[in-house]
Amino acid sequence: MFGMGSNSRSTDVGFDENPVLREQVEENFRFAAAASVAGIVNAAIITAVLWSPQTVLTLMGWVSAITLGTGLRFWALVDNKRDIQKQTPATVHARRIEFVALTNGLAWGAGTVLFTLFANPTQYMLLLMVCSGMMGASVTTYTSMARAGVLFIAPLALGGLASLWVHPSAPSISGTLLLACYCVLLVRSAKVRERRFRARIQAREELATSNETVKLLLNDFEEQSADWLWHVDRQGLIAAPNKRFCEAAGRAEALLENALFETLFTDSKERVMLHEHIYGSFGFRNLTLKLVIDGAPRWWTLSGQPTADGGMRGVASDVTAQKRAEERVSYMAHYDGLTDLANRFLFNDTLRRALKRRGKDHQVAVLCLDLDSFKSVNDSLGHPIGDKLLCEVARRIEKVVREEDLIARLGGDEFAVLLQGADAGARAEKIADRIIETVSDPCVIDEQQVVTSCSIGIAYSANDDADPTLLMTHADLALYTAKENGRNRFAFFEPGMDKAAKERRDLEMDLRAAISLNEFELYFQPLVNIDTGQTVSYEALIRWNHPTRGIVMPDDFIPIAEESGLIVQLGEWVIRNAAREVANWPEHLHVSINLSPAQMRSTNLLPTVFGAIAQAGIDPDRLELEITENVLLNDSAVNIATLHKLRDFGVRISLDDFGTGYSSLNYLRSFPFDKIKIDKCFVSGLADNPDCQAIVRAVTGLASNLGMVTTAEGVEEESQLELLRNEGCTEAQGFLFARPGQSSQFTDLRVNPKAQPTSGVAMLPAAKIDLTSTPSRSIEETGSEESKSDHPAAQRKARG
Ligand code: C2E
Ligand code: CA
Ligand code: CA
Repeated sequence: MFGMGSNSRSTDVGFDENPVLREQVEENFRFAAAASVAGIVNAAIITAVLWSPQTVLTLMGWVSAITLGTGLRFWALVDNKRDIQKQTPATVHARRIEFVALTNGLAWGAGTVLFTLFANPTQYMLLLMVCSGMMGASVTTYTSMARAGVLFIAPLALGGLASLWVHPSAPSISGTLLLACYCVLLVRSAKVRERRFRARIQAREELATSNETVKLLLNDFEEQSADWLWHVDRQGLIAAPNKRFCEAAGRAEALLENALFETLFTDSKERVMLHEHIYGSFGFRNLTLKLVIDGAPRWWTLSGQPTADGGMRGVASDVTAQKRAEERVSYMAHYDGLTDLANRFLFNDTLRRALKRRGKDHQVAVLCLDLDSFKSVNDSLGHPIGDKLLCEVARRIEKVVREEDLIARLGGDEFAVLLQGADAGARAEKIADRIIETVSDPCVIDEQQVVTSCSIGIAYSANDDADPTLLMTHADLALYTAKENGRNRFAFFEPGMDKAAKERRDLEMDLRAAISLNEFELYFQPLVNIDTGQTVSYEALIRWNHPTRGIVMPDDFIPIAEESGLIVQLGEWVIRNAAREVANWPEHLHVSINLSPAQMRSTNLLPTVFGAIAQAGIDPDRLELEITENVLLNDSAVNIATLHKLRDFGVRISLDDFGTGYSSLNYLRSFPFDKIKIDKCFVSGLADNPDCQAIVRAVTGLASNLGMVTTAEGVEEESQLELLRNEGCTEAQGFLFARPGQSSQFTDLRVNPKAQPTSGVAMLPAAKIDLTSTPSRSIEETGSEESKSDHPAAQRKARG
């Protein structure tokens, strides 16, 4: 048994047949040294007490046996100590221990019997005391190994028993009974202690095994998922960081090990929470923390649970992508994608919060800003340049405000600036001035020079209006006024603007109702040939018979109709009714109809015009459509195509109000107009402004070269007519001839039944004005190809 050296098992590296037994052995070895020392001390005492010439030999023999037993125990102990890799199986050690116990037991048992023979009563007493002491102590020495304990106790007890019967002064019977009870108690106690010890070890082993299983599962989890595990000790220091953790943190294991976990993360309230959870040993879930790895910000979400050792273990996942997506969404929800300025949502939100804080030292001012000619830039130069212009405007505004002022793009070409602070009201005016100046500075975009300007409305928080919507409405009203006053300027909100806006709103509501209530009427004003003095056509001018306001002039409601989109419906009504009217007039008279830009954009325009002509049964060239230069600016390509379709059908096209707006003689070349109407501002200036004369001369000259008729508007005086005649103008219109009036007022509009044309096209009865009638049919519906060729327009075209 002792021959089984550790070398013989060298192939079984790490072999451990029974972990519980191993623990039992180890536990026993823990007491081995103390037990040996105790044994030697006891043996020394007995030797000293019994020392006499007669006992020398016996004592020498016994001490040798004890020394051998103790030596064996030491050898076993040292051998186990040396066997670091535990190559000698626990069973071998157990046998050794049992052998040593038996050897020692036998030595002590034999000694007890032998020395009884020499001992006087006092010495015998001592011998019995040592003997029972050794037996009692053995229960502790052999706590983990009951069998070895029994092997030690049994020979000792037998020796004791023999001595009871050998020594003359010993109480043989009572001593035997006592010894028996004592032995039963000791053996039982040894067994119970061993069982408890084994149970404890077993439980620990099971725990270790289950920990191992958990570990395996966790490893599995680490390999499978994108998440990783972290573990900190009770001081919050990282313990055994795994590979995934190191990879995620972008740091070497050596750097992470024992580093303070929380210092990985950037300072934040979440980091404070992490600190509190770790040191307070509170479990937590889904705490998202920011950290910087290789200079780039990243986010981890952590969950953790306290561990038995007072530390904490948990799972971490990198949620950077998700966080970035969230940030992007949040950015998009708060910022304008084109200019990177705040959007309406963020602006309103900031304004709301600013107004809550307002007071004497905290004023709030809002500047609402709108580019004056953005649409024409967009239309003429294209959307990409329009977009770049918006960005350029944004950058320029940024330069004239302070860092803390909020600039927003509210949509389209609308911007807003929010000023806060004690001086917000005073700064508003200066900033508005500087914005107007910087925005109107020409800029070059994609090698194109772009000139724009802006109008600004300013409102600021008075003492008690804390309503953000109201403040914005006020700024809007001020902006509207700035535009009304001629653009490229700013206006402060004034209480009166509220009233004007309310009137406007009321008017818009009335306008909607007016369409269904048939409150409109067409007035007519003659256009006279300057040479012959003959009326050649009448311009249809709309009037609104308002039930309470009386007659409302078009300048007061057409802009509202245009803004609200009602103009399309209203315009269709004008076209149909003008066509019906002209059908009743002598055939040489034409009717001119004003078209708004919004009508030009309407897809219903062509069907309406063609339908009205067909319904009225008139020659298309009796209709003249008057458009303004704006139409050539906005969506010009589409509009020019529409104009061509109308002209191809036979309808005449006039350019109205020429000389106002974005006038350019080039417009005269962009479309072959039938007529140019020179705006009344030139006519009124004819007498004393040489510029006006020059312009009228240039226009009439160019127009006659291009084969166009020229009509001078607003002719009020004979002298004006004379000058126009001299400049070669073809027609004139104005109060000098007649003010606009109902058709019944003009005698030349009454057709003499006997003089009716044979074609009968003008025979339709006078139209009853009906705004609710269905929209006109399209040209395709008005007749076949054949019937189209019979159409006066087609005939006119055929005639050339
Ligand atoms: P417009 O097309 O330039 O029409 C001529 C305007 O000049 C008319 O004003 C007319 O009354 C006025 N007028 C004529 N002769 C003289 C004159 O000798 N001196 C002065 N000072 N004014 C003169 P009205 O009727 O108030 O119309 C204003 C504008 O409203 C029109 O200007 C036209 O742009 C628009 N409008 C009128 N009817 C319609 C319509 O049915 N549809 C559309 N879209 N616009 C219309
Ligand atoms: Ca007109
Ligand atoms: Ca005009």
